[in-house]
Amino acid sequence: MVNAIVGANWGDEGKGKITDMLARESDIVIRFQGGANAGHTIVNDYGKFALHTLPSGVFYDHTTNIIGNGVALNIPVLFNEIEQVVSKGVPRPKILVSDRAQMVMPYHILFDEYEEERLGKSSFGSTKSGIAPFYSDKYAKLGFQVQELFDEDALRAHLERIAPQKNVLLEHLYHKPKLDIDELFNTLMEYKKMVEPYVCDVSLYLSNAIKEGKNILLEGQLGTLKDPDHGIYPMVTSSSTLAAYGAIGAGIPPYEIKGIVTVCKAYSSAVGAGAFVSEIFGEEADELRRRGGDGGEYGATTGRPRRMGWFDCVASKYGCRLQGTTEVAFTVLDVLGYLDKIPVCVGYEIDGKVTTEFPVTSRLEMAKPVYEVLDGWKCDIRGIKNYSDLPENCRKYIEFCEKHIGYPIKMISNGPKRDDIIIR
Ligand code: GDP
Repeated sequence: MVNAIVGANWGDEGKGKITDMLARESDIVIRFQGGANAGHTIVNDYGKFALHTLPSGVFYDHTTNIIGNGVALNIPVLFNEIEQVVSKGVPRPKILVSDRAQMVMPYHILFDEYEEERLGKSSFGSTKSGIAPFYSDKYAKLGFQVQELFDEDALRAHLERIAPQKNVLLEHLYHKPKLDIDELFNTLMEYKKMVEPYVCDVSLYLSNAIKEGKNILLEGQLGTLKDPDHGIYPMVTSSSTLAAYGAIGAGIPPYEIKGIVTVCKAYSSAVGAGAFVSEIFGEEADELRRRGGDGGEYGATTGRPRRMGWFDCVASKYGCRLQGTTEVAFTVLDVLGYLDKIPVCVGYEIDGKVTTEFPVTSRLEMAKPVYEVLDGWKCDIRGIKNYSDLPENCRKYIEFCEKHIGYPIKMISNGPKRDDIIIR
């Protein structure tokens, strides 16, 4: 049985926590897209962890954790994360890396920095992890798969083939030093030592696991609105954030994905540039940011303050629809307990007309939020285990959002810890 966990919005919805929780019943957890540009924050008995590359199943010794072919694999980041986890007392996790995964090369990170620098004010707000240059190279057929580390002559020849193209850009567009092929080759030999014990034909492994009836979890990064096709292009990430892509990024048949848990946060936050209709500013935003998440809404990778806003039913309905949601996990609801009144964005006004359907980017830029204001519940809901024990106004808030997004909210997360969860 294969399930996917994905985000409905801009990312940072709390997927890591839900995956960590569901990983308890999973034999295999797979990352299928993205790279070390976003992070999951997980709080469990071992402590607090920011994972950028490792699947969120690494804290269970019965779980095999896989880096799928769709991931932008930064090998040193992966290894530092494994060491960080082990040094905090977690048993050494079982990890497999697809032989078809491509590697983030040191120059991808440099190109990311140089390009953001060149764009100046119109930059994307990249985390400078090399993700956009990496995926550009992958689809331009200039990328390097993990399996290439094991044929040194072919690897060197490949480096020599790509260097002239990179060097033109480095020299004439960015005015930076050219690539040093020997140095790159030596770095890749270091990567080889790090990754060798884990390399695996992942699609074959998963095909057998499916036949054996194993429980498999596909773990998405970011959310629908950052998808390159269906998100707020061009302010998106460079790999698909949709559950459907899980089939490709892991190498399994699409019809094997039976459950799609879409994580929606009870208010909005976003990092990076791009239209954000229900965004709030000033003291109102600062207070929500301070109280948000677990210790404030600051990027897990960059530490940057996140942009804050009220729950957006239009974006979330769209986000859930594109994911193919079978159930919604509604997270970080406890944070809203301080508010007397809670605005919820129920429509977008564009050109004097109100719509509840998420528009294309050019129209999104013009959209103004239409709010309905609900009463707050003014108490701490952490520790509550049953839906019926939630304050009435809190249930009303959940049911209001559920009605507007049109997908069943079956899980409610009321705190950062594993067992802060209400199953409805
Ligand atoms: P992800 O990338 O989707 O996993 O999201 P992040 O990890 O970046 O952001 C979620 C943040 O919220 C983390 O700091 C979590 O520990 C925290 N978190 C997750 N669920 C809850 C919740 O229900 N309540 C609170 N207060 N914090 C939560």
